[in-house]
Amino acid sequence: MVSTEPLIHAEHISRTYELAGEKVHAVRDITLDVHRGVFIAFVGRSGSGKTTLLNLLAGLDSPTEGSVIFEGRDLSTFNENDMVDLRRHRLGFVFQSFGLLPLLSAYENVELPLRISGVASGERSRRTKEVLEIVGLMRRSKHRPYELSGGEQQRVAIARAIAMKPSLILADEPTGELDSTNAQSIFGLFQEMVREEGMSIVATTHDQTLLDMADEVHRMHDGQIESTWTLADDVDPENPHARFMPPVPTESTT
Ligand code: ADP
Ligand code: MG
Repeated sequence: MVSTEPLIHAEHISRTYELAGEKVHAVRDITLDVHRGVFIAFVGRSGSGKTTLLNLLAGLDSPTEGSVIFEGRDLSTFNENDMVDLRRHRLGFVFQSFGLLPLLSAYENVELPLRISGVASGERSRRTKEVLEIVGLMRRSKHRPYELSGGEQQRVAIARAIAMKPSLILADEPTGELDSTNAQSIFGLFQEMVREEGMSIVATTHDQTLLDMADEVHRMHDGQIESTWTLADDVDPENPHARFMPPVPTESTT
């Protein structure tokens, strides 16, 4: 299922912030491919550069050095319309704090991006129901966010992110406000979406227990990728269907 041309190719990207005359090297010289149909997780302690990297991959921020190539085109050559198209149609975003509109029902929250993009009403209602079904929330569709649990709210946010059928979902600490059961189930949903809908997902987390659900894990430290595991690396020939489990580092991650 993994095609040879990556969805995103990041080539030696760095992002340096200037803060009161001091340079902060948030991301340092990362080269990375995001292929189609894979679930990638970035793990690392707070301040290791996960959010900065995600923003660079999404074109929400520009690298100070290097380039990000999206479907073969350098993001730095995108004009404003290309950027709007990228963010509206090709990427879906999921955040730690869900970002739902409190006065709208689950259904209306999911439908909103389709409305904004001018999708006709029949198609809009078909797609809204379809994605609410995918995240298992059809029966909660009339509820407003405050009537839903954290896990359910995050499912609504995921349904909203996939309603436009993006090729890639970027999720920054999507389980940061969830208990471990809900966190497991959100990562399980990502795993399912990658397998069944063929999209790619890049998610950050600092929760070690979620990593065995990703196809590929990159551990970040000080703006760099310190180590990488893929599912294939850890397949035990005696037991090829066992899920891999990246080693837990000795220092604690927060
Ligand atoms: P993480 O998401 O892994 O917690 P971040 O990408 O948010 O890490 O931050 C990486 C580093 O860059 C941190 O040292 C952080 O303080 C710094 N940083 C992030 N955003 C900014 C900014 N807008 N200005 C200055 N420094 C920043
Ligand atoms: Mg972060």
